[in-house]
Amino acid sequence: MNVSDSEVVSRIIQDAGYEIVSSPKNANVVLLNTCSVRENAERKIFERLSSLKKFKKSSQLNVIGILGCMAERMRSKLIDENDIVDLAVGPDEYRKVPELIRKAFTGEKGIAVKLSRVETYDDIEPLRKEGISAWLAVMRGCDKFCSFCVVPFTRGRERSRTLKSIVDEVVKLWDDGFKEVTLLGQNVNSYRCPETSSDFADLLSSCANAVPNMRIRFVTSHPQDMSNKLIETIASHKNICKYIHLPLQSGSNRILALMNRNYTVEHFTERISYIRSLIPDCALSTDIIAGFPTETLEDHKKTLQALEEIRFDGAYMFKYSPRENTKAYKLGDDVPEQEKIYRLNEIIELQNRISKTINLTEHGKVHEVLVEGPSKKNKQKWQGRSDTNKVVIFQPNEEVKVGKIVRIKILSSTSATLFGELV
Ligand code: SAH
Ligand code: SF4
Repeated sequence: MNVSDSEVVSRIIQDAGYEIVSSPKNANVVLLNTCSVRENAERKIFERLSSLKKFKKSSQLNVIGILGCMAERMRSKLIDENDIVDLAVGPDEYRKVPELIRKAFTGEKGIAVKLSRVETYDDIEPLRKEGISAWLAVMRGCDKFCSFCVVPFTRGRERSRTLKSIVDEVVKLWDDGFKEVTLLGQNVNSYRCPETSSDFADLLSSCANAVPNMRIRFVTSHPQDMSNKLIETIASHKNICKYIHLPLQSGSNRILALMNRNYTVEHFTERISYIRSLIPDCALSTDIIAGFPTETLEDHKKTLQALEEIRFDGAYMFKYSPRENTKAYKLGDDVPEQEKIYRLNEIIELQNRISKTINLTEHGKVHEVLVEGPSKKNKQKWQGRSDTNKVVIFQPNEEVKVGKIVRIKILSSTSATLFGELV
């Protein structure tokens, strides 16, 4: 979502006459787009600011701006406590960035953090780097108020773009050479077209039909709203990728209730069963939080048990991080740090073992892989992604081109990567 937001801001400032440069060394203005979901993400920004401080004294760098969720959360405090910050702009005020930069050049510091019920940047075409894979935000904000999460406070109320504008943009992306699009929202399942009341399943099938050779992905789904209609829509379109990210967060119903997630483990596993009954080869990933307030060893074991039973292909696993103003913040942060780390490591170890075992079952199978280019680790080899969103490494021949779909037979694997050969 932040990459996508940065592309929107890039367009806004380019249209205002600024040029985007590739290194801060050549910049007069540096804008940092930020995340507040965990403390660690904010800590990285403060580290970045302290390294920029030296720059600001010695180079042509005049203006430093903080964009996104940290600006929204910390507001004037950001500027008051960090003298090198000139502007702070929240997620719904990006249109003001050029004006605030202009003022900052005259020494005037600026803040714009009003949240909006209608802003979707519908009319702004994100300034995407050339590539094969594009992000496309179909909605903004979140109304779920999970008790641990700062997003509803920093990104405001849920609002969707019109189905027509999204389908038009997807068609344009295909015409521009993109081969894959990921539809983005904090909870895409609650997408509602403001003109036609179409839901997310309608949007997915409209996109899939409009560009039948483009791969369509989406993230993130909420287990409570993962409807039969949506699952059936994914199953019935070849170009909607067979990969679903469905955050479980915890395997304990008591903790899920405290998290205000509005589903039980039983509901979650029933949804997974329905997905697997219609789409047997669907890859699944999840998010897990270790050490939520009041989590006992027994709750933690239930999370491990759920992971064992569901067997996700992959997971994003986090240590609970208290966020001011959220409901969970008031519960205190009573799982000791060492214990949180221990539990998180247990979760990671188990998940790695599961991912590794699942990937062993891929050996001998043939995947259609969208070619991305040379592998990051070994430039001799190339990499791409399977429909199921797994990274596949292979030896290219002269005919292999970036953006083409090739068939790769899987020969070996690790917990995170598949290795194979062209067939
Ligand atoms: N809207 C998406 C993404 C939210 S943030 C969703 O609901 O899935 C991505 C993940 O960060 C969440 O799923 C959650 O696992 C994690 N997260 C959010 N707040 C957190 C916190 N305070 N501490 C630790 N992890 C958190
Ligand atoms: Fe946060 Fe929950 Fe909304 Fe996801 S669904 S952004 S975790 S409040």
